[in-house]
Amino acid sequence: MKYIFGPVPSRRLGWSLGLDILPYKTCSYDCIYCELGPTTRLTSAPVGLIEPGAVLAELESFMVSHPGQVDFLTVSGSGEPTLHPELGALIRALKRRYALPVALITNGSLLFRPEVLERVRAADLVLPSLDAVDPETLAAVNRPHPDLDLDSLLEGLLALGRLPGPRLWLEILFLQGLNDHPDQIARFRQVIEKINPERIQINTVVRPPVEAQAMPLAASRLAQIKELLGPRAEIIARPDRRSERTIQLEDEIITLVSRRPSTVEDIAQLTGCTPEEALSLLQRLMAAGKIIPAPFDREVYYRPRTRDT
Ligand code: SF4
Repeated sequence: MKYIFGPVPSRRLGWSLGLDILPYKTCSYDCIYCELGPTTRLTSAPVGLIEPGAVLAELESFMVSHPGQVDFLTVSGSGEPTLHPELGALIRALKRRYALPVALITNGSLLFRPEVLERVRAADLVLPSLDAVDPETLAAVNRPHPDLDLDSLLEGLLALGRLPGPRLWLEILFLQGLNDHPDQIARFRQVIEKINPERIQINTVVRPPVEAQAMPLAASRLAQIKELLGPRAEIIARPDRRSERTIQLEDEIITLVSRRPSTVEDIAQLTGCTPEEALSLLQRLMAAGKIIPAPFDREVYYRPRTRDT
């Protein structure tokens, strides 16, 4: 599958099937905490390299072969989905075809543009991010495209909050020493009151980030912040519960398939796992958007996901 991933169990959305509608790491931000690596195409302009028809065709084939396995269709993936000019048409097509709610995960940076707000209107649930309430922190944490700034981000989030239709769950990712100062928390609270989201979802870093200075907050500090942000706040950060061995094997597999495309059997042999274990690790890596299958001559090979795939 090139454009869909999962379904993955999500505490927020149940079994969520992800739709990836942009080339890898095409984003308006280059966040220091991104788990997908550095942004390879930093842009604030519409890009539409992936045809919605191709995404819908792949989705249809999945839905036919996996009936009843999905609770939410979630447009997200490895870039900023609101950059896609046909996002709105895609969401409307999803809603017409499937009796499933559609969620949109966005960094929120482009919502100040009326045409972008129009694109998100058809979603049932929009989950934008807000990691900074001052320009310096936005620049340090999210490293936005030069066209974007804090004023435009807040303008967009306020407009989303006023939009009739989609429910709004605002996510804030806290980083040690960067956006967790008591003054910043107080300012977050003021801004959130104006945006008026249904839920405030508190997160921190749980996977290796792009930059080492993106340090997670302790669970006790997250709990304090939750109290400070009021009754609509909830902690969604979950520790990475993969064992050391799983982390090491996943790293080994990525290295192996980066050298040459490999089958499950190749990977089992080279890593010393059973074929079942290798397949389960490959499925996790596919769900995380790190590798893709590459069928060839009646075999399925796996290779890294790149910006073009
Ligand atoms: S907005 Fe999301 S995809 Fe883009 S750089 Fe930040 S974390 Fe990564």
